[in-house]
Amino acid sequence: MGSSATKATAVGVIRRLRAAGHEALLAGGCVRDMLMGHRASDYDVATSATPQQVKRLFGHVLMIGAKFGVAMVIINRRTVEVTTFRSDLSYSDGRHPDSVKFVSAREDAQRRDFTINGMFYDPLCGKVIDYIDGRKDLQAGVIRAIGDPHRRFAEDYLRMLRAVRFSGRFGFRIDRDTAKAIKRRAGRITQISGERIREELEKMCADATAAASLMQLHKLGLLEAILPEIFADTSGWVKVSRRAGAVTSRGDALLTIATMLCDLPANDIRRIVRRWGGSNEMRKSLLWMGEHLDDWKTVPDMPLAEFKRILAHRDFRRLEALWRFEERTSTGGKRYYLAIRRRIKAIDPKQIDPEPLVTGADLKEIGLKEGAILGRVLRRLYDAQLNEQITNRRDALKMARGMVHQDK
Ligand code: ATP
Ligand code: MG
Repeated sequence: MGSSATKATAVGVIRRLRAAGHEALLAGGCVRDMLMGHRASDYDVATSATPQQVKRLFGHVLMIGAKFGVAMVIINRRTVEVTTFRSDLSYSDGRHPDSVKFVSAREDAQRRDFTINGMFYDPLCGKVIDYIDGRKDLQAGVIRAIGDPHRRFAEDYLRMLRAVRFSGRFGFRIDRDTAKAIKRRAGRITQISGERIREELEKMCADATAAASLMQLHKLGLLEAILPEIFADTSGWVKVSRRAGAVTSRGDALLTIATMLCDLPANDIRRIVRRWGGSNEMRKSLLWMGEHLDDWKTVPDMPLAEFKRILAHRDFRRLEALWRFEERTSTGGKRYYLAIRRRIKAIDPKQIDPEPLVTGADLKEIGLKEGAILGRVLRRLYDAQLNEQITNRRDALKMARGMVHQDK
């Protein structure tokens, strides 16, 4: 579908809509970001034109969300989301509005989640259009639900997580009534799908301020609802919050999620990833970090081959961050960390994950059959190679012949 629109593309769309007699404005997150002097990640357009009218004005328009008033205008392979001013009618699933009604800009502002997210901007005359006192809250640093917070969260429980995400990202406080409303229904967060929870958590955890967000999630009762596993152990949360405090400034979502899950039993990790509709990659990464969490103690002395296998793993940097924290918590120092660094430095980078000196085909040529033994021999040979006991093909084959003899 191409990448999100730049401001210039979105403004071009607005000009075109205006020329055709429609109202059209920048809306939502991008207005907030511009007023804060941040670069927006995407520029959304809100308009009085219906999706059908938008479609007629532009050459390439995707109508996937047309029922909800959304038309995706594609210009030079960039996508501009053009949404008709709308109000969301009843929510029976706490997720999607059952239907929408096309309305004025003023009413459209009312269906948005927080005041700081509910403003419009007219880029042609440089004017902010603020029906919900968003600018005031932006200046004061407040996350406040638009309208009655109880009703707004009941419509869509995901908004509870969004409140925490924006609060963490901008260092804003959550208004008292808004926070109260979240606390009251925090337990219902599990009524929305695990995928939506994960996606929101991933966005939250990709922020360098994630540690503060996790703290906030906990204070509001949301974390316990999302991850009761952490609280099964009385010291679970304390450990998680300290670990998060140590590593989340990296803004690495997977690492931050690992701070919460890495010392849970493997079966819990599997169940959580399944509940979240997470990928196999995610599951494997989290399980691997969990499995090797305590290795910092043994890694300076472990066999070279084993060490290299850990080094070669795509999540090694993350694991190392967790190790540093584990060591500091348990010894107060970084002796092992330094020893590990020294050991890494002594290794030729080309020898961390080298091409195997011999392959299965080579072994078949010297008489081995496909099967368990062949696999075992290959692995032992590769170990010897990683341990730098063999450095060329001739020696590798010699060793293979020796092994085959032994196994007979
Ligand atoms: P980000 O920078 O994370 O994209 P954003 O504010 O742009 O932040 P989006 O999810 O892109 O967030 O949504 C765009 C706008 O749509 C929001 O600013 C808000 O006005 C509205 N919005 C999004 N999700 C919801 C929701 N669940 N309930 C009500 N309004 C929402
Ligand atoms: Mg956005």
